[in-house]
Amino acid sequence: MKKELAIFSFNDLLHHFPYRHIDKTKITKIIDLNPAIEYAQLQGKLLYYETTGERNSKRVIAYLKDDTGTMELTWFKGLSWIEKTLKKDEVYTAFGKISFFMGKPQIVHPELELIKQEINGGKNFLEPVYPATEKLKARALGGRQISKLTEALFTILTPKDLPENLPSSFITKLKLLPRFEAYTQIHFPASTAMYEQALRRLKFEELFITQLRLAMIRSERHRKSKGVVFQKVGAFFNNFYNNHLPFQLTGAQKRVLKEIRTDTASGHQMNRLLQGDVGSGKTIVALLAILLAVDNGYQACLMAPTEILAQQHFTSISELLKDLAIGLHLITGSTPASERKYILQSLAEGNLSIIIGTHALIEEVVQFKNLGFVVIDEQHRFGVAQRATLWNKAKTPPHILVMTATPIPRTLAMTAYGDLDYSIMDEMPPGRQPITTVHRYDTRRAQVMDFIRTEIDAGRQVYIIFPLIEESAKLDYEHLMGGYENVKAFFPEPKYWISMVHGRQPSEQKNTNMQRFVKGDTQIMVSTTVIEVGVNVPNASVMVIESAEKFGLSQLHQLRGRVGRGSDKSYCILITGSKFGTEARERIKIMTSTNNGFEIAEKDLELRGPGEIEGTKQSGALNFKLSDIVKDKAILNAAKNYAEEIIVNDPELESADNLQLKQYLMSLQGKTPWSKIS
Ligand code: ADP
Ligand code: MG
Repeated sequence: MKKELAIFSFNDLLHHFPYRHIDKTKITKIIDLNPAIEYAQLQGKLLYYETTGERNSKRVIAYLKDDTGTMELTWFKGLSWIEKTLKKDEVYTAFGKISFFMGKPQIVHPELELIKQEINGGKNFLEPVYPATEKLKARALGGRQISKLTEALFTILTPKDLPENLPSSFITKLKLLPRFEAYTQIHFPASTAMYEQALRRLKFEELFITQLRLAMIRSERHRKSKGVVFQKVGAFFNNFYNNHLPFQLTGAQKRVLKEIRTDTASGHQMNRLLQGDVGSGKTIVALLAILLAVDNGYQACLMAPTEILAQQHFTSISELLKDLAIGLHLITGSTPASERKYILQSLAEGNLSIIIGTHALIEEVVQFKNLGFVVIDEQHRFGVAQRATLWNKAKTPPHILVMTATPIPRTLAMTAYGDLDYSIMDEMPPGRQPITTVHRYDTRRAQVMDFIRTEIDAGRQVYIIFPLIEESAKLDYEHLMGGYENVKAFFPEPKYWISMVHGRQPSEQKNTNMQRFVKGDTQIMVSTTVIEVGVNVPNASVMVIESAEKFGLSQLHQLRGRVGRGSDKSYCILITGSKFGTEARERIKIMTSTNNGFEIAEKDLELRGPGEIEGTKQSGALNFKLSDIVKDKAILNAAKNYAEEIIVNDPELESADNLQLKQYLMSLQGKTPWSKIS
C-alpha cells in the first residue's frame, strides 16, 4: 500500500510540470538596480533590522548590504515570525520584485534564504514554479512543497529510471534531447533555451506515442481482424444504381464508395469515418453500401441520433427503394410494442434486411441473424462506447461506417478518431447555389419578417430557430413560445401555417409537426435546435436564427445546412441583440464570410480549443499534459508521419531500433485510456 502510494506520487510529481520558471541564476549588485529591472536576486549581509510604525503601518525593515551598497527589505505581514527568524550579521540571498521608494530600491516581502557563506553566484538552474492541484493539496502539497519534493526526487533519479523510449535514429534526426535529460530540463532548466528543447522533446513524445498507438490499432485491424466479405456487386446494387439513382454521383461520392468497396472485400473489418460537409450527400453513399451488404446476404443497419432524423431517413430510403424487393423497417423509442416484437423477430430470423433507427438499435434485445454493415449517421452525438456496442452484435464484427454531422478539423479527427480509417467528401453536388448569410440586429426584425413573407409568397418554406440556453428548460420554453406568438402575429392563419417543434413535446407530436412541414402543409417551422441535425426539406430557402450570438460555430453551420438543399437561392439570417462579446462577433463574421464547413471547423477549434468540440470531449484522447493540437500542429503532423512510417515498416515493433519503443508501450499497458479502446 505504501509502495503503491510512493509510485503514484513519483509519477505524479514527475509529470506535474512547472508552469513557469524564475531566474535566480544571477546575483545583481545593489548599485546596478534600476527601475527597468522587475525581479532581481541580491546577496549580502544583514546589517540589522527594526520594527517601525503603528498598527496598520507597522512593518519590519531589514538592511541588506553587499560590496556596492545597502538596500531595504520590508515586511508588512507575519511580523512576529520574521522578527524571530532574521539573523543579524548572517549572509542571505534575497529575491523579489524591485520597487523604488523615494529613489531607493527595496523589496517588499522578499524570498529570503540564509546561506552559509557568500557564493558569488546564483543557482545553476531556473527555479520552477508549480501549480498546486486539488489532488496534491489533499496530500498537503502546495506549490512550494512540490518544488522541494521534485528537487529531492531528481537527486535520486538516474537515467535508468527514465529510459529512452524513442528510436535513436529519431533522436539524431530530429535533434531531440534524450528522455532523462528532457525531464530534468523541463523541471530545472539550465536556461530558457534548454527549457524549450525539453518541452519540444516531451511534446513530440506525447503526441508520437498517441499516434503510434492509434496507427497500431488501425494496422492490427487491417492485418488481423476478421471481417465479413462482400464478394460481389449484386442485383440490388446494380438495379438501383442503373435504374433508380435520382442523380449522377459526384466524383467524391464515387471515390468514397470505391474505398468502402475495397475495404469490405478485404476480409478484414472496415472501420471508417466519412467526413463530408453538410449537404455533400453522405446518405446516398451509405445507402449504396447498404445495398452492397444486402447483395452479399448480410443485414445492415443505419443509426441516427434523433427520432426525427431516423424517421426521415426511413421515409426517403423507403421512397428510393420502393421498386426493389428489400425488407426495410424503422425502429425507435416510440415504435408500438406489437410492431416492435415483430421487427425484433424478423431481425433475429434474418427476414429483415435493413433496419433504420435511433439508439434503440443498440439495446440488448436487438439481435441480428447476420449483421454485416452498420452506418452511424451524424457521429457527433455518439460516443466511443456506443460504437463499440454495435460491434458485438455479430460473431464476426460488422463493417462500420461513421458519418460526421459537420466536418472536424484534421488535427482533431486524427487524434479523437485516429483509430478509424478516414474518407473525405470535399465536393458538393452540382447545381447548388451558395447560401447568402447576413447578420441583422433584432431592432430590424420587422424587415426580416417582410423578407420572409416574399419568400413564402414565392412558394418557399422558412425555418426560425430559437436557442436552448440550458440553464432553465422553463425559460427556454417561454422564450420559444414568445417567439412563436411573435411570428404568428406576422403570419396569421389561415393564409400562413406554422409548425412548432421543441424538446418538451411527446415524440409523436414532434413527428406530426415535422411531417407537416416536410410535406409543405406548413410554410414556417419554429423550433429549438432539435431539428439541427440532418433534416432535409429541399423547398426550404430561409434559415432565421434568433439570438445567434448564443450558438457555437459548428451548430450555426449545421443549422444553415438545413437550407440550400434544393436549387433555389437560399438565405441564412443571423439575428442578434446589440450587445455581445468579441468571440460571438468573430463567429458571426466567420459565418457571413464562408460556407465551407472545413474552414469553419478549423476556426471553431481555434476559438474554443479542442476540449470543447462536441463529440470529442468524452474521447479522452485529447487530455494532453503538454501539447495543444492547435498550437502544436506542426509537431503533431510530424509525430503522425513518423508513427505511420514505423508501423508500415515494422508493424509489430520487432526491429532492434524499435525495441525500446515496444518495451515502453508494454510498460504502459493497462494504465491509459487507450487500452480500453483497443
Ligand atoms: P448530408 O451529407 O448532409 O447527409 P444528404 O445526404 O442529406 O447530405 O444530401 C443532401 C441533398 O443532396 C439530398 O437532397 C440529396 O438527395 C442530394 N444529393 C446527394 N447527392 C447528390 C448528387 N450527386 N447530385 C445531386 N443531388 C445530390
Ligand atoms: Mg445527413
